[in-house]
Amino acid sequence: MTPPIAAAFQERFGEPPEFVVRAPGRVNLIGEHTDYNDGFVFPLAIERAVWIALRMRTDGQVHVTSLSLGETATFDAAHPERGEPAWAEYLKGSAWAMQATGQPLVGWEGVLTSDVPIGAGLSSSAAIELATMRAFAATSGIAWEPATMARLAQRAENEWVGVNCGIMDQMISAVGKRGHAVLIDCRSLETRAEPLPSGTSVVILDTATRRGLVDSLYNERRAQCEQAAATFGVTALRDVTLAELTARKGELDPMTFRRARHVVSENERTLAAAAAMRAGDARELGRLMNESHASLRDDFEVSSEALDIMVEIAQSRTGCHGARMTGAGFGGCAVALVDAGLAGSFATEVAARYTERSGLVPMIYVTGASAGAAVEDVK
Ligand code: ADP
Ligand code: MG
Repeated sequence: MTPPIAAAFQERFGEPPEFVVRAPGRVNLIGEHTDYNDGFVFPLAIERAVWIALRMRTDGQVHVTSLSLGETATFDAAHPERGEPAWAEYLKGSAWAMQATGQPLVGWEGVLTSDVPIGAGLSSSAAIELATMRAFAATSGIAWEPATMARLAQRAENEWVGVNCGIMDQMISAVGKRGHAVLIDCRSLETRAEPLPSGTSVVILDTATRRGLVDSLYNERRAQCEQAAATFGVTALRDVTLAELTARKGELDPMTFRRARHVVSENERTLAAAAAMRAGDARELGRLMNESHASLRDDFEVSSEALDIMVEIAQSRTGCHGARMTGAGFGGCAVALVDAGLAGSFATEVAARYTERSGLVPMIYVTGASAGAAVEDVK
């Protein structure tokens, strides 16, 4: 099947693209606010993705049109400079991070589309970065090492775009595996894919709320985690067990203790969730997701009224194994694990109840797990 992106390229350039690349968005099943603590996360690449169809240019320039936004951006791959349009910073940052490794980049021109909702917390930004890097790797003959590219993409977002994100988003967009969630050790970047329990679907429940000032709240949580780690004389909370934390509770102020308790217990839950998935135990997996939500709400305090309402409604429906907020929090999405046969009615009913209680109209996406960033075979 020729994806629509290839047809859009053909229409614009009068010939088929040389390459079509795809990089997915993501949703995290469990393991929240653990990535920057060198801990464990357990996300999956969703079936929504950024696509770029392209052909090489010989002058080192990149000319790319976002069909989603109807705008074209142009930059020099070897010497990108900041400027309008803002969305191109994700592509320029990716070029900057790649060429900083000393490999010359071959430019390209093409079109970009995406069905990852923008700014919904499903990481359209990481998908753009990985799609861009996959495109450059293809044009420039650079070997594709997913974890290496994920690190470079994170650097692009941290240092070029200026968003202080952890490694999870870029990593799962790079290493996703169809039908699987991927346990990621954010310290070693070791990964282990586990198959989603058969007969289940992942349902993403967007509360239709966004909170401003999230960056400062996120940075505050990071600082609290670093402070707790410093008290224990370790580089990251990853190195603290629940038993140690409890034994030395008195050395932390009550709020820092609760922040640390979330991270330490979440790491344990995430490993337990991967084991439950390996055993095909959807019920146990769901129970751990429910516990994760309570911990994020009560100890880490990054939930919101809308997220709590959404999660409570989801958890009460038949066919739902578990539900929790997902992503940084304060708004955005929840995620639920649901019996596949009931996913459609679950989505309709949860949406109706959520609107009744909040007055808001949610967006709901039923998804399986897809593969990570790749050059697609469109022949
Ligand atoms: P999220 O990653 O949660 O979707 P971010 O704010 O991190 O939200 O990234 C969203 C930004 O990524 C957009 O503001 C835009 O700059 C860029 N982006 C995402 N999708 C597209 C697209 N289809 N075309 C152009 N830019 C996009
Ligand atoms: Mg993002």
